[in-house]
Amino acid sequence: MSTVLYASPVFGPVRSRRLGVSLGINLMPADGKVCSFDCIYCECGLNAERRTASKVPTREEVRTALERQLRQMQAAGEGPDVMTFAGNGEPTGHPQFRAIVEDTVALRDRYFPRAKVAVLTNATHIDRDDVFQALLMVDDNIVKLDTVSDSYIRRVNRPNVAYSAARQVELMARFGGHAMVQTMFMHGTADGVDVSNLSDEYVTPWLEALQQIKPEKVMIYTIARETPLQTLRKATPAELDAIVARIRALGIQAEASY
Ligand code: SF4
Repeated sequence: MSTVLYASPVFGPVRSRRLGVSLGINLMPADGKVCSFDCIYCECGLNAERRTASKVPTREEVRTALERQLRQMQAAGEGPDVMTFAGNGEPTGHPQFRAIVEDTVALRDRYFPRAKVAVLTNATHIDRDDVFQALLMVDDNIVKLDTVSDSYIRRVNRPNVAYSAARQVELMARFGGHAMVQTMFMHGTADGVDVSNLSDEYVTPWLEALQQIKPEKVMIYTIARETPLQTLRKATPAELDAIVARIRALGIQAEASY
């Protein structure tokens, strides 16, 4: 298995065609993963294989490391296009998430006011007001919704907190359009059971949920790196393009990464 863990609390910058220069902010320890999901496709590995007893970085440690990195980038004359909360697990699970977002927005405004602040979240904590308010503060609030089938979510995303897809859709709709939905599409099996979510059985109710959420954009993707389970397979570009066309037909912006 060659899944990856990221440095903490700051990693990168990473250059990508899609995002440009992205500076990562990892609110989990560097030596393990902490997540309220345990997705079978997680590039960081499965929770049980990535346990850590290390503490999460404090608000002060995040602010200091981020400011140091931004100063270095300023001196080098190349700033980030986006500062992205991601890394070894679920960033909104950090107890000081809201305060850290406030610090990050303030540092962005001071050093690189044209850079965006983005959060990649599995959305399991958006029922908490502090998390919800923090996500309203960032430019790109990117929430995961792989399907609206609770049984699929139990098999693939494997939440270790209470989770109901219908309730999640309601909560996502409360962002009033200030959310981007991110969805993994794939083929394959887990413990001998089919985990493809590309059929109409999954896609049609998920499209109905998008109409309820009214996201500013939908980003669909497929497996790009090695996964902890070797029995998963990529969706094809043609399959992803067909889903993008169905989303756009609803008047919602959409893009696919292959
Ligand atoms: S939500 Fe993200 S970090 Fe958590 S298990 Fe799934 S892919 Fe990994």
